[in-house]
Amino acid sequence: MYLKRLEIKGFKSFADKVDLEFDKGITAIVGPNGSGKSNIYDSIKWVLGEQSAKTLRGSKMDDIIFAGTESRKGLGCAEVSLTIDNSKKMFPYDYSEITVTRRLYKSGESEYLINNTQCRLKDITELFMDTGIGTDGYSLIGQGKIEEILSSKSEDRRMLFEEAAGIVKYKTRKLEAEKKLETTKQNLIRILDIINNLD
Ligand code: ATP
Repeated sequence: MYLKRLEIKGFKSFADKVDLEFDKGITAIVGPNGSGKSNIYDSIKWVLGEQSAKTLRGSKMDDIIFAGTESRKGLGCAEVSLTIDNSKKMFPYDYSEITVTRRLYKSGESEYLINNTQCRLKDITELFMDTGIGTDGYSLIGQGKIEEILSSKSEDRRMLFEEAAGIVKYKTRKLEAEKKLETTKQNLIRILDIINNLD
């Protein structure tokens, strides 16, 4: 499983469609200051479902849409597609490639797609859980990330190992089940109260 392709259109400084092909192994993005290196990193985080405008270095989410330059008008939509190799069927899909797409319109409407089929953000988050690819995954190392990992609290660092070990999915499901159990308990208490009042 590896990141094969990234297609960016209308995202931050990339007004025109840009296709980036990646090889297996480690990819480093280099270039002059302000050329868009961090914007590429942001675009990957964004397509994987990042919800914080601040994390994407903006103040509101539509700051990620190409805002225009002196010579060019801004755009009404940003779109990023990330294609991952699935020839070893690591993902539960019969396809040899998985493409996730996210679109955001100036109007505030947004869309998520997996292989061109509309889906929920939750589907994308779950798809990448325990793969190291998610928004907080260790496959994306931005500026300052290594320092952050080394200086973080041991409980925070533990998250990284849990993701690599593949247990985050189960921990998340356990939390969801516990929440449901608690809601059911509360409902039961309410029902018993009602029954007691009827007596
Ligand atoms: P550095 O090496 O200094 O960190 P970088 O290569 O990482 O730079 P980025 O931060 O990716 O550069 O790109 C910055 C450029 O992106 C700036 O010129 C900024 O104006 C442009 N930019 C950011 N958001 C938008 C937007 N919504 N519309 C148009 N341009 C944008």
